[in-house]
Amino acid sequence: MTYRSPVTDIRFILDHVVPLAPVAATELFAEATPDMVEAILTEGGKLCDEVIAPTNREGDLTPAKLENGVVRSPAGFKEAFAALAEGGWIGIAADPEHGGMGLPQALNVGFNDMLSGANLSLQLSPLLTQGQIEALEHHASDEIKALYLPKLISGEWSGTMNLTEPGAGSDVGALKTKAVPNDDGTYAISGQKIFITWGDNDCVENTCHLVLARLPDAAPGTKGISLFMVPKLIPDADGKPGVANSLKVVSLEHKLGIHGSPTCVMSYEGATGWLVGEENKGMAAMFTMMNNARLNVGAQGIGVAEAAYQQALAYAKDRVQFAPIVEHADVRRMLACMKAEIFAARSIALACGVAIDMGRATGDANWQARAALLTPIAKAYGTDMGIRVASTGVQVHGGMGFIEETGAAQYLRDVRITTIYEGTNGIQAMDLVGRKMMDEGKAAFRLLQEIEDEAQGARGDFPVLAEDVWQAAEELREHTEWMVSRGMQDRFAGAVPYLDAFARVLGGYYHLRAAMAEGRDSARGHLAAVYIRRLMPAYAASLAEAKEGAEGLYALSVEDLEA
Ligand SMILES: Cc1cc2nc3c(=O)[nH]c(=O)nc-3n(C[C@H](O)[C@H](O)[C@H](O)COP(=O)(O)OP(=O)(O)OC[C@H]3O[C@@H](n4cnc5c(N)ncnc54)[C@H](O)[C@@H]3O)c2cc1C
Repeated sequence: MTYRSPVTDIRFILDHVVPLAPVAATELFAEATPDMVEAILTEGGKLCDEVIAPTNREGDLTPAKLENGVVRSPAGFKEAFAALAEGGWIGIAADPEHGGMGLPQALNVGFNDMLSGANLSLQLSPLLTQGQIEALEHHASDEIKALYLPKLISGEWSGTMNLTEPGAGSDVGALKTKAVPNDDGTYAISGQKIFITWGDNDCVENTCHLVLARLPDAAPGTKGISLFMVPKLIPDADGKPGVANSLKVVSLEHKLGIHGSPTCVMSYEGATGWLVGEENKGMAAMFTMMNNARLNVGAQGIGVAEAAYQQALAYAKDRVQFAPIVEHADVRRMLACMKAEIFAARSIALACGVAIDMGRATGDANWQARAALLTPIAKAYGTDMGIRVASTGVQVHGGMGFIEETGAAQYLRDVRITTIYEGTNGIQAMDLVGRKMMDEGKAAFRLLQEIEDEAQGARGDFPVLAEDVWQAAEELREHTEWMVSRGMQDRFAGAVPYLDAFARVLGGYYHLRAAMAEGRDSARGHLAAVYIRRLMPAYAASLAEAKEGAEGLYALSVEDLEA
């Protein structure tokens, strides 16, 4: 089965559903003309289809391995990575001052979606490098920027993100890695980090680690964390990789999926590090990297779902049981729902990208708040949906879906991690109902108003679908009013179903916009009806659960759970 990047859908969404045109109308993104968008998506898609996707299976079958302290990537990955680097794809959204293309984040999200569908394990390397580039652009000194950014953007070097330790996962503030100031302004970094994605590799000449660590006498928790650049090879006076730093990969994890992506246990043994940003302000700097990565992890879920869908559709057209199985109502239901969910999640992720770009280009606080609100939704819904769709893809294959040769199982195994890393989806949902609603829900209400206004205007052409979307937005508004009046424990207990409801209402809205662009009797009109009538209604059940609050959960004691 050959993977085809969803260029047409991404293009359609950026033209009609969450338009990129206002972004391109700003001075900052004036280069993102329709011709440029077309060229980027078409060329990027071609690279994903012809060069990257053929390496996906090999990565699963022959995982990355550790040989004499060096990580060897699976066959074909080096060449595929080189093609990504040569085409400038790592720096799509990076600052042109250091060699980036300076294009909108929305286009980068679209590219990451296509790349993830082609090979999720490989995509993780540029994903983390892109996050590191953004963190350095915002927080690093001019010297660090000048030394590292051109190499990271060109793909000569790659970047990692080192937060997690055995005792510090979701609770990053518990980390113990130490940073002791040296006499020359550098710091000696010591400690163990686990689960470090692409912590070493043979695709680049240097691996640059952004490491969170604690200065002596720093305050406990997240307030006492600083961020350091710790390169594998210390750059010499000419900026070339020089002597080896005091760090090593101790081992690689054996995982359920993404076998091609090396997940490393790292040991830092007095390694030389350079401070990024201010002392004890490391979390703020790391958040720049994490926010970028969160949205693009949402795109990972969408990309893998797309690949799983394409494979399931091809199989369903081929496989005959009484008739080609694509003709059976339940199989048709599965395929239609897969396609409709992917479109909804893709629109949400691109809407988040557009909001980030508008916020950057205009400095408008409302756009920035929109981007902040949409980030956890794009991450969690994109990845939850990715698992649902990949699992349905296995189901469409029947028994063959459970057999590894088919490849359908790989998508499910690979995508499973996406709801866990970059902050679990539970943590994303808590972010949505906590930090992102510190404004008493203003950003959410603005978005819901927009949905209601648009649905109101669509009633003439789409009386049923528009009414459904309007009604859903209204119920979500009422629930949001209720929620912002509650304490955090109640909010947190309902956070995951609330996020799901929000995403479904957004998905309905974006499908309605797609239908309005093409008409009721178009393919997009029919797909909108599938989403709005069959998938969106789950928002009501999610809101009912969200409104239950925390009390009932704790009424069931730990002993009750054990009984
Ligand atoms: C393949 C892979 C790659 C990774 N790559 C990287 C990487 O490159 N860099 C890096 O730093 N880390 C990386 N990670 C680590 C990843 O980000 C963490 O696994 C993730 O943040 C969760 O932390 P944890 O595993 O310690 O789980 P825990 O924090 O122990 O969470 C366990 C469960 O408890 C829930 N939970 C925890 N705290 C709360 C709370 N306060 N409220 C409600 N629920 C809560 C979680 O949602 C989860 O369901 C990777 C992990 C894997 C498996």
